[in-house]
Amino acid sequence: MSHLLMEGIPGMAATHLSGLESAQGSAADAMLSDDPKLREECGVVAIHGHPDAARQTYLGLYALQHRGQESAGIATANGTNLSNIKGMGLVADIFTEEVLAKLQGDMAIGHTRYSTTGDSALLNAQPIRVDSTKGLIAIAHNGNLVNLGNVRAKLEREGAFFQTTSDSEIIVQLIAHSKEGTLVDAIADSLRQVDGAFSIVMMTRDRVFAARDPRGFRPLSMGRITNPDGPDTIVFASETCAFDLLRAKFERDVQPGELVMVTRDGVTSRQYSTGTPQSSCIFEHVYFARPDSKIFNRWVQESREEMGRQLVRESHVDADLVVPVPDSGVTAAIGYAAESGIPFRFGLIRNHYVDRTFIEPEQRVRDFGVKLKLNPVRNLLEGKRIILIDDSIIRGKTSRRIVRMVRSEGAKEVHLRISCPPTISPCFYGVDTPSKRELIAANNSIEEIRRFIEADSLAYLSLEGLQKACDGGEGNHFCVACYTGEYPTEWVDVEDILPATATR
Ligand code: SF4
Repeated sequence: MSHLLMEGIPGMAATHLSGLESAQGSAADAMLSDDPKLREECGVVAIHGHPDAARQTYLGLYALQHRGQESAGIATANGTNLSNIKGMGLVADIFTEEVLAKLQGDMAIGHTRYSTTGDSALLNAQPIRVDSTKGLIAIAHNGNLVNLGNVRAKLEREGAFFQTTSDSEIIVQLIAHSKEGTLVDAIADSLRQVDGAFSIVMMTRDRVFAARDPRGFRPLSMGRITNPDGPDTIVFASETCAFDLLRAKFERDVQPGELVMVTRDGVTSRQYSTGTPQSSCIFEHVYFARPDSKIFNRWVQESREEMGRQLVRESHVDADLVVPVPDSGVTAAIGYAAESGIPFRFGLIRNHYVDRTFIEPEQRVRDFGVKLKLNPVRNLLEGKRIILIDDSIIRGKTSRRIVRMVRSEGAKEVHLRISCPPTISPCFYGVDTPSKRELIAANNSIEEIRRFIEADSLAYLSLEGLQKACDGGEGNHFCVACYTGEYPTEWVDVEDILPATATR
């Protein structure tokens, strides 16, 4: 039970059990590759009206582990008390039976995180629990605020004292400093003052709240577990795949600019902001979200398969096999194979346990390369013309290693197809991206990238093709700033906004 921060546990003083360590997963990832995938930062869950709310939240977070592996936390409330436990590492490692037993109550919020703003210390793990002028509040959020500097400076002038460098605390401080008379009005007031991407779950001793920013950057869905003997359990989660594990039925998305409140009397909602055009993150469909989730009213699996089909229409090349770069290239490759009629084969096998393997620092990437994560299947690749399907090229080094690896197994030709447009600009809305200087597509033509990665041909999906594939007729409007450099928010204090940086 080391490396835990415990607050509000009955019979225990607040404990901070040592260790401001980076998560094992992050450190290992950094060791294994100097060109990892872009990373999502957070997943959130909230439960109202379940006798074992902590365990339900744990299961929800377990399903959302792909959205962040650095830290996790669960706060519970039982009408009178609000407890919070968070730690560094994976959800299942932190929340043992012994730890879950300390979290009592029929309401809970939870968070799993890969750090964006704020450093990776345990203090910045979420939920954050604050004893404010409006009472005890716990908050967890997914996304990144972009007017942090301005708001923080204003709050500090008004006497606010910050315990963390996390965005979430800014929202709590705004609530505490709001002149509004009721808590729900103060929350709405505070959300109107921040700009950027946020899907939030919040809890007091007796209420649960959920809200999305006015542009709806990040997903947040609401579900319900029907209880024949009493009030239904209301569930919120970043992705609908969390509902499946909880046996909750998807009800609807929390709308952009909407604040939902759940009390023992039921669910109420208000639009705290209207009139801002939607700009939901299209990269959720390309890479982040699980294919078994429904995001922005569209199944991710359908989007990805359509991306593969669209790639055929735009840049088909004759070949013998379609091979995905697992795992994220799999669904698009299935679409490509179906549309082109070329057989689909798992020519690269991913080792799912490598991130958790202890590796001596001196035995780094240069010794093992990408082979630690991916191993080629020689009998499938030898003598074949291969179409490799992947979802992005960031710096280009990993793509080059994979192309070399496939060729070294005897492939006659290697054609790389990417299921989104070239990534040319960093994200400021909660996704870990390198700076523009490091993004290969920001500084090179497609032909230059092809030569660098040593492929026989290279093609990306067009922006129009991607938007069509991800919308599926739903009428969504997406943020595509990492492909265009045109950002949907106004920059208020651009000097203060840094893209999140990973330890690598
Ligand atoms: S910049 Fe890219 S990754 Fe960031 S929110 Fe927009 S689409 Fe998503």
